[in-house]
Amino acid sequence: MSQQSKSTRINPGRRKFLQASGLGLAATAGGGVLTSPSSHAAVQTSAHIVIVGAGAAGLDAANRLSRELNGAKITIIDSRVEHIYQPGLTLVATGIWKPQKVMDQNARYMPDGVDWIQARVAEFDPSANAVVTDAGQRINYDYLMVTTGLQVNYDAVEGMSPDLIGQMGIGCVYDKPDYAARTWAMIDQYTDQGGVGLFTRAQGPVKCAGAPLKVTMLTEDLFERKGTRDRGEMYYTPPGQKLFSQPDINEFLKEELPSRGITLQWDHPLVGIEPELKRATFATPNGNERIDYDFIHVVPPMQSPEPLANSELAWQSGSFAAGHWMEVDQYTLQHPRFTNVFGSGDCVGTPIGKTAASVKAQVPVAVSNLVSSIANREFAARYTGYTSCPLVTRKGEAILVEFDYALDMVPSFPFINPHEKHWFPWMLKDRMLHSAYNAMLRGRV
Ligand SMILES: Cc1cc2nc3c(=O)[nH]c(=O)nc-3n(C[C@H](O)[C@H](O)[C@H](O)COP(=O)(O)OP(=O)(O)OC[C@H]3O[C@@H](n4cnc5c(N)ncnc54)[C@H](O)[C@@H]3O)c2cc1C
Repeated sequence: MSQQSKSTRINPGRRKFLQASGLGLAATAGGGVLTSPSSHAAVQTSAHIVIVGAGAAGLDAANRLSRELNGAKITIIDSRVEHIYQPGLTLVATGIWKPQKVMDQNARYMPDGVDWIQARVAEFDPSANAVVTDAGQRINYDYLMVTTGLQVNYDAVEGMSPDLIGQMGIGCVYDKPDYAARTWAMIDQYTDQGGVGLFTRAQGPVKCAGAPLKVTMLTEDLFERKGTRDRGEMYYTPPGQKLFSQPDINEFLKEELPSRGITLQWDHPLVGIEPELKRATFATPNGNERIDYDFIHVVPPMQSPEPLANSELAWQSGSFAAGHWMEVDQYTLQHPRFTNVFGSGDCVGTPIGKTAASVKAQVPVAVSNLVSSIANREFAARYTGYTSCPLVTRKGEAILVEFDYALDMVPSFPFINPHEKHWFPWMLKDRMLHSAYNAMLRGRV
């Protein structure tokens, strides 16, 4: 694609930010806030705010709330002590980064004065303004921020289990640096030996919709770099008739993948694997189809974590009810039925946006509106659906995909065409976004 499409809009807020602050931070500045979050002085309150989940969204929210409130009691609940920089997992799985590079500690980002309960929430009871931990501790709150991320449903693919990753040609990039490293062992072997490679994509929302595509294109690139491309027969198997939700990028990929010898097998949702036989089953419109493979990248279906899924906070009807995503107003990020509850990150059911870049745009909105609720002010911030992903096409080259609820491209960098492969988005991904992400965890960008 050499022309900018009609659906491209330069995001004026982001341009201003870019001019004011320099590229490193602008890359994850988050274009989702239509009206600036509160510039008011810190609000005095004795409210108790509970945050569930200390991942990207939870830590960002904790830092912002600590700064924007005076006198509040803030509790964050998460048993996980290590922090994983998940956007780096695709680079680990394709041998470009070492696993150590994505590993960090939550304690480094916890703000002073916040009470961290190292447990998991087993039950949400929003009618009683309470959560219950897996240790049986009942915690009451005045306001709740839900930032639990999502759950990868390995069981939804019959025969699949995380233990299999790194054996018998099975890769799966999600959840842990160890899984990504074991995926790399399989991809390294596959690009030496060749054979049939199946690159799958689950039905329904997944975190970083670009990740399965990046793994596919980086594997193809590795074949090229090793000089073994003629050994690999590669297939990308989307569950439906689309490769990507943003139409311009969908069109780009429909040309890019076949031009690199990657066959598109439409309507192929993966439903099972037989690891010993190296055979995958797809539920196609014409019935189940079995395909033998030498390597498979399994992308299991995803949903909100079970305690949230089983609670009254989940969508009860509509398209987001299937994944039990948390119900929020897509613009204010407030729960419509439990108005003292807000959410952000992968767990919320909004039309787009399961990326760290969406977190960057959502959290200031959710925090601003929560603070406005406490202060009895009108909501001042709205999330536009901004999401972004450097869609890596090869080592050293990517497209910086940025779009919003309208599926319009909203590029931050006027000097690069958002429809063309370029070295600059690769450099962002490889060199700059990690430190911008860490600044986000501190609520700083
Ligand atoms: C392979 C891969 C590639 C990606 N690439 C990109 C990219 O290029 N660009 C980009 O912007 N984004 C990318 N992402 C997506 C990005 O990492 C996520 O969207 C982001 O981390 C979501 O943040 P979160 O806070 O919602 O969830 P997380 O960061 O996953 O945190 C959720 C936290 O909630 C905790 N939790 C869960 N359940 C409970 C419970 N019941 N009680 C207490 N705590 C709980 C968990 O322990 C965890 O610490 C990628 C993700 C993956 C996996």
